[in-house]
Amino acid sequence: MTNNNELIFEISRPGRIAASLPESDVPAVKLSKKFPEHLIRKTPAELPEVSEPQLMRHYTALSNMNFGVDNGFYPLGSCTMKYNPKINEDVARLSGFANIHPFQPTQTVQGALELMYELQEDLKVITGMAAISLQPAAGAQGEWTGLMIMKLFHKQNGEDKKRTKILVPDSAHGTNPSSAFIAGFDVVEIPSNASGTVDLAALKNQLGTDIAGLMLTNPNTLGLFEKDIEEIAKLIHGIGGLVYYDGANLNAILGKTTPAAMGFDIVHLNLHKTFSTPHGGGGPGSGPVGVKGFLAPYLPVPRVEKQDDEYVLNSSYPLSLGRVKGYFGNFGVNVRAYTYIRTMGADGLKQVSESAVLHANYLRKLLAPYYIVSHPQFCKHEFVLSGLKQKKLGVKTMDIAKRLLDFGYYAPTVYFPLIVEEAMMIEPTETETKETLDAFAKTLIAIAKEVEETPTIVLEAPHTTSVRRMDEVRAARKLRVRYDKSKDKE
Ligand SMILES: *Cc1c(COP(=O)(O)O)cnc(C)c1O
Repeated sequence: MTNNNELIFEISRPGRIAASLPESDVPAVKLSKKFPEHLIRKTPAELPEVSEPQLMRHYTALSNMNFGVDNGFYPLGSCTMKYNPKINEDVARLSGFANIHPFQPTQTVQGALELMYELQEDLKVITGMAAISLQPAAGAQGEWTGLMIMKLFHKQNGEDKKRTKILVPDSAHGTNPSSAFIAGFDVVEIPSNASGTVDLAALKNQLGTDIAGLMLTNPNTLGLFEKDIEEIAKLIHGIGGLVYYDGANLNAILGKTTPAAMGFDIVHLNLHKTFSTPHGGGGPGSGPVGVKGFLAPYLPVPRVEKQDDEYVLNSSYPLSLGRVKGYFGNFGVNVRAYTYIRTMGADGLKQVSESAVLHANYLRKLLAPYYIVSHPQFCKHEFVLSGLKQKKLGVKTMDIAKRLLDFGYYAPTVYFPLIVEEAMMIEPTETETKETLDAFAKTLIAIAKEVEETPTIVLEAPHTTSVRRMDEVRAARKLRVRYDKSKDKE
């Protein structure tokens, strides 16, 4: 046991490493040698004593309760739960990537910096943008970063006080209005028209010099391509606003078009969606932000650049937003995404989008006779069903989602997008076989028949999972956030 009174850190060692670092990265830390008396333990901590096999069984049992894309089909719309090739993991575990430290002098991590630089270059081609930052840790953080860049741009033009509003379509992902709000903007919702895309007339009604910009994902969350995107971008630019691309649906357009070609000024990508890195419960994310040239000075620093033959971290951008994430982003995720891009190649990425779109349309056609399809036109990489027909028979979309679990599927995204009643949003991705798509369709069709003939079996689902159906009403009314054994019988 160490003496609690003495700090276990040896202060001189981090100091020595810090001496070789850029000053901005390492604030001087002065640690007191003594802990305050009242913080010192009087009795040893009551740590659980378990054997290694007990511990191993505990975590293995937990891992067996988990469901991931390596267990089965995971058609969670908007989330692009594609298979994550294991070569990504091999590369991320290479010692030169896995065993380096962010405080190392840049001359000793040239390979890692080269990978980041090359990934930025690839993402520039994929998005058509002029500059990329890999710092944001997820799509939502990328959104906030992009909106702050928008704000800095307007500030530079002396217009930040006046441009207070961000336009967001009503089909948008919840993170869009949230990010705009957190970035200090007011959110103005733009309704969709009957064919599921932005209502141009309603958009025009909102245009004015108080608009900072518009956020849009294309294809949108209904899986539909916003055909008017060029005109929308022109309208926003016409009033001095900027256009932000939510890149979560990039899987549908890889190598076909780019956000830049559609007229967008700022984008974020979700590398953990489009570029096959584990996410959700399976890992952290990466939400790089790309901008057109005139916005590059505002990107987060440090920026990874190539000067002559050396890769460097450049922080000398006086207009920069600053740092948005500790160190340089989720490096391990970026290694995986880079590996994916390189193994696929340009033609491979194009094929990804073609197959993703084909799979979505195939499933949509198979299911259309049994469920209401929210919008009948050709979709991109995902589509939205409505369970209204089933709801009229007393079975809700949530019941159908739970019944799917009995057959070993993860459920689609439900009750989103908000503009479709009883929504079920299905994104099969390109990595599934025709057999899997057929079997999934067969199951959903069988459930539609159960709804008509034996609805109780759906209403009481799931029957085969390790955890039975939660009493949702009781969970909401008598919420218990702390486990108390004495209340187990309740
Ligand atoms: C997933 C998603 C986001 C948010 O991305 P995160 O990486 O989960 O933060 C934003 N928009 C859409 C359309 C999404 O599907």
